[in-house]
Amino acid sequence: MTRNVLILGAGGVGSVAAHKCAQNNDILGEIFIASRTLEKCERVIESIYRKDNLKDKSRNLHARRLDAMDVSATARLIEQAGAETVINLASPQCNMSIMEACLEANATYLDTAVHEGPFREPEPYPWYANWEWKKKDLFAAKGITAILGVGFDPGVVNAYCAYAVKHHFDRIETIDIMDVNAGNHGHFFATNFDPETNLNEIAEDVGYWEDRQWKECSPHSKSRTFAFPVVGEHKVYLMGHDEIHSLPTFVNADSIRFWMGFSDHYINCFNVLRNIGLLSCEPVTTAEGLKVAPLSVVKACLPDPSSLAPRYTGKTCIGNLIKGEKDGKESEMFIYNICDHQECYGEVESQAISYTAGVPPAAAAILVANGEWNAQRMVNVEELDPDPFIDLLNTMGLPMQIRDSAAGS
Ligand code: NDP
Repeated sequence: MTRNVLILGAGGVGSVAAHKCAQNNDILGEIFIASRTLEKCERVIESIYRKDNLKDKSRNLHARRLDAMDVSATARLIEQAGAETVINLASPQCNMSIMEACLEANATYLDTAVHEGPFREPEPYPWYANWEWKKKDLFAAKGITAILGVGFDPGVVNAYCAYAVKHHFDRIETIDIMDVNAGNHGHFFATNFDPETNLNEIAEDVGYWEDRQWKECSPHSKSRTFAFPVVGEHKVYLMGHDEIHSLPTFVNADSIRFWMGFSDHYINCFNVLRNIGLLSCEPVTTAEGLKVAPLSVVKACLPDPSSLAPRYTGKTCIGNLIKGEKDGKESEMFIYNICDHQECYGEVESQAISYTAGVPPAAAAILVANGEWNAQRMVNVEELDPDPFIDLLNTMGLPMQIRDSAAGS
């Protein structure tokens, strides 16, 4: 039987997913990588050969040019590739088109980010209800599996929530998802993924789930200091994030929040850019009559995120601080992963941020292929059994660890 996987997007995350699918091509079959720029796909394939990551050498890697906003072209490529699974690692604006194509071509759909409309307008909470969840009936009617948000955050952190419910808690009060990159790329200022996506995300008003209701605050207005395992104490800021938009629906907890670590230097640079208008997407006119969006200029000046990997040192720590009750007693634990930038580069020529996001969708593709996660409907990660996913990630470079009593403040 042919399985075959089509990966859409050949950026940092798509490249890691391609390496990991290639390492498991005895299960996943032929691997196709497509993006609008064919050369990006070819570079990923060269990297896979350079690192000798193709397990079954009799199965090929294929590069294809595709605009994933074009539904019929995407459906045609799925069919031509004989792909049973599509891993969407292109821009989040492509989600709905790629879903349509999967429905048309009867392929499993996996992604790692919630859909974004073309203008990044603020949307009602939860975000998934505005786009993806409207397609639930269609996926169920055709018995097609769609797994939403199966990166690290969202993704693995959702599985950590399901794992905590399944094995460790009778009642959960709070889930605080915390993500810190304690690495060093050696530049004065750089973003780890697309600057427009990254800087917009940080500038947005913060939506979070607290005391069983949606609340909102301005960016960087709430922070705490947390003592992470291995990487030590870091200041983290409350942020809006995709997983907060599914977890309250499927996990019974009073509060679910997302926090991200930023250094004072990063926040200072960000504030200067924002306060002088350089984060705006609205075009301005220069003295020479040139119309240009300031954020595009900032992006053009910053290092290309994919160029950071070779020099990146240090580690990331992403995990869930969970408080609640077990057997009538108060319980608290931090479930987490540590990932090392240099080790990731050694294995797949990427930094840890792309690695943590790119390994999970490859693991999910394997679980769908072997039937363990073949839900035959649309699900978020926390709706699935977390055990096979966590077991597989333990062997694929993202081991889960648990600290029983957290030392954060
Ligand atoms: P990049 O910007 O590095 O790469 C995006 C890729 O998609 C590029 O190859 C781009 O190439 C391609 N692409 C964009 N639009 C289209 C299109 N219309 N058709 C075909 N290809 C397209 O992004 P990342 O690799 O950093 O991120 C990929 C995804 O992963 C994003 O959705 C991001 O939000 C998500 N992510 C998830 C994380 C998680 O833990 N859940 C963490 C980090 C990222 P080209 O322009 O040539 O087409």
